[in-house]
Formats: sequence, C-alpha cells, structure tokens
Amino acid sequence: MAENLNLFTSTQKVIKHSLNKLGFGEEMYELLKEPIRMLTVRIPVKMDDGSVKVFTGYRAQHNDSVGPTKGGVRYHPDVTEEEVKAMSLWMTIKCGIVNLPYGGGKGGIVCDPRTMSMGEIERLSREYVRAISQIVGPTKDIPAPDVYTNSQIMAWMMDEYSRLRENDSPGFITGKPIVLGGSQGREKATAQGVTICIEEAAKKRGIDLKDARIVIQGFGNAGSFLSKFLYDAGAKIVGISDAYGALHDPDGLDIDYLLDRRDSFGTVTTLFENTITNKELFELDCDIIVPAAVSNQITGENAPNIKASIVVEAANGPTTDEATKILTERGILLVPDVLASAGGVTVSYFEWVQNNQGYYWPEEEVNTKLTAKLVDAFNNVYNLSQSRRVNMRLAAYMLGLRNVAEASRFRGWV
Ligand code: NAD
Repeated sequence: MAENLNLFTSTQKVIKHSLNKLGFGEEMYELLKEPIRMLTVRIPVKMDDGSVKVFTGYRAQHNDSVGPTKGGVRYHPDVTEEEVKAMSLWMTIKCGIVNLPYGGGKGGIVCDPRTMSMGEIERLSREYVRAISQIVGPTKDIPAPDVYTNSQIMAWMMDEYSRLRENDSPGFITGKPIVLGGSQGREKATAQGVTICIEEAAKKRGIDLKDARIVIQGFGNAGSFLSKFLYDAGAKIVGISDAYGALHDPDGLDIDYLLDRRDSFGTVTTLFENTITNKELFELDCDIIVPAAVSNQITGENAPNIKASIVVEAANGPTTDEATKILTERGILLVPDVLASAGGVTVSYFEWVQNNQGYYWPEEEVNTKLTAKLVDAFNNVYNLSQSRRVNMRLAAYMLGLRNVAEASRFRGWV
C-alpha cells in the first residue's frame, strides 16, 4: 500500500517537474496531477457455492483531451485506488511518448482470480463491464489486459458490452483473441518494443548488437520473449535470473535450451547447481542490463557498481530515484520504462484502428508499423534529453505530457 502511495506521489513529482520544464504553470499541474474521472464500483457476483460475494472495482481516466482514454484492467488482491490512479497517469505518458491519440486510463478489481473458477471470473468480468459501461466505449475509454487478465476475459467483456449496446463493438477493448478482432503480433509486442529500444540505444553508444553482452533480470513473459529476440539477433546473453537466483556464462547462455526447460512461472535457475544471486547479476561485466522482473532492483547501493553502459527498463519502476541520479551522473544511458514498455499499448492501438476500419493487417505489417513508431519515440526522447540536458526519464515525461497539455490548452480547459 505504502509502495503504491509512493508510486503515485513520485509520479506526480515528475509530472510537476516536466510541466515546469515545458513552461506550463501551476494550473496545468492542477489539471494533470489526478485523473479527471475515477469510478469506484461494488460488484455483486453469484459464486459457485450459491453465496454472493461483493467485489470492489475501479476505473480511472486521467485525461481525454487528445482522444479516448486507454489502459488495462488488473485483477489482483492488492489492487488499490492509488495504484489504479498512478497507472492511469503512466498510461497518459506512455501514449504521449509514442504519439497515440489516447489519454491514459486504468482499471482494477480487488480479487484473487487464482482462487476463482472460470464461471466466477466470467460473471465478475461481465458485471464489471455493466457497472462501468456508462463511462467506457470505443470513443470514450478502451480497456485491455493487465496483471492476471487475458484474451478470454477481454472476449467476455467485449461480448457483454456488445450486448448492452445491441451492436457488435470489437473496438471497445483490445487484447482480444484473433477471431474476435485481436491483432497479429500483440502477444510479443512489449518484448519487441524493448528490443527496438535496445537496438537504438546500442547505436547511440556505438555497440553492435551482434557483439553485445547482455544481462536480463527475469525470465517470465517479458524476459523470455526478449532474451529470444536478442539471442536470435546474435547478442550474447551472459546472465539471466528468476526469483530464485541467476545463471552466468561469460561466453553466452544457450537461450533455446533454457526456454525449453523453464516452467510457466518463469523459473529455470532451480535446475542448476552453479548459480549466482540476483545481487551479483547486476554487477556482472556486460554492455547492457535489462531489468525485466520486479520494481526497485537498481538502488543507491548497487548503482555505483553497474558495469554496463546501457540500462533498459523492461519492468515497471525497476530503478529508484536515487539510482537514476547515480546512473545519470556516471554517464550510463538509462532508457525509462514508460518508453521501453510502450510496444504493448502501440499494438493495442493498431488493434483498435483495425477494428474501426474492419480491415486486418498481416503480422509483418504490424511489426513494420510498430518499429517505425518505437524508433521515432526513442529518438524523440533521446534528442530532447540531449537538447534540454536532462536524463531520458525526464525527457520521456516531458514528451509524454506535451500532447495532453497542449490539447487541454487548445480546448480552453486551462
Ligand atoms: P512474469 O510474472 O511472467 O515473470 C516475472 C519474472 O521475474 C519471473 O522469471 C520471476 O521468477 C522473476 N522474479 C520475480 N520476483 C523476482 C525477484 N524478486 N528477483 C528476481 N526475479 C524475480 O512477469 P512479466 O509479465 O514478464 O513482467 C515482468 C515485468 O515487466 C513487470 O514489471 C511488468 O509490469 C513488466 N511488463 C510486462 C509486460 C508484458 O507484456 N508481460 C508489459 C509491460 C511491462
């Protein structure tokens, strides 16, 4: 809880600083420091044993000046109002960085889907849509999957919304199964976006990806796709880890073999005897480090010992404020999470565009368009950081907020 509160207040702090750098005053900050709309709903659900359980759900909409709001729905016992609000602010910034015609949104339900039957999850998902239906829709606010939600849940939600409106509405939600209007390439989009950022960052530092030595923390959804892309591109993955430890080979690990052996939770190190710790992983001799597991991993303690010249944040919030300062002072290129993980929402946008036009693109076309968007975004953030002499995180926030701030001003809101 305290961590979520910190996440919200620290995001507000960077927003204030960015708006200041962009020349916007206190009134703009007053508008953008909180979501413009926040709905809390109580959702009664008939459980399999005949009882009724009442769940709490949220939907936050940060700012809809450039277009509808967009963001995932999270099912987790630790979901809080503060977390949902903070994530909606983040989504505005991500959408702005890749120049999508969206503001940020986010939703969540306090529940533990791991202890619920499929029938109970379906009834909960349909009731949630009924509860928030007045404020969502293809031109208002477009949900998507997030922690513990998936394409099946998106399909139920889309079906419920379409029934309520008596219209087939695939553009109401993204992350759907392909047969219901999902986009090719959505599953790998986040890792692909991270890979594009790594390629661009390597170019800036004169590193050829084929010779690069890369360390990745986390071997789950994000880390495993990412290690495969980089391995196939010829890079040497010299370290990977999971929650139980890390593997290290200065000559490069056999990623295909490890992918084959890892379980569905992203665990592989328990199969080996010669492991190192996650702490040692961050201090390995390498060119690029990619935290792709959990938050607060690069801290004031280990930042001075990092040997890589590039850090790319695939996870959400892996670097503390203090560590960001240290890495920046040491001249290490830090590619922030809001930029590196924007591939997912970019392909979600492509899914919505395809739904709206009723014409679907092959995977190569999706990938080409994704690459163009991310290369542009990376270079815009990089160039802004150079011209304004600020780190990439602050530059990303500045770029991410510029569209909504200008659109809010043109609309006459501020
Ligand atoms: P996941 O649950 O599939 O995998 C997490 C991995 O991290 C596992 O290998 C796990 O063993 C490891 N891990 C867990 N706790 C750890 C610890 N304390 N130290 C070291 N390793 C630990 O999760 P994911 O979907 O791969 O997401 C990873 C990060 O990337 C998260 O921060 C997530 O928010 C972010 N992210 C993921 C996506 C996506 O599409 N999957 C999109 C955007 C951002």
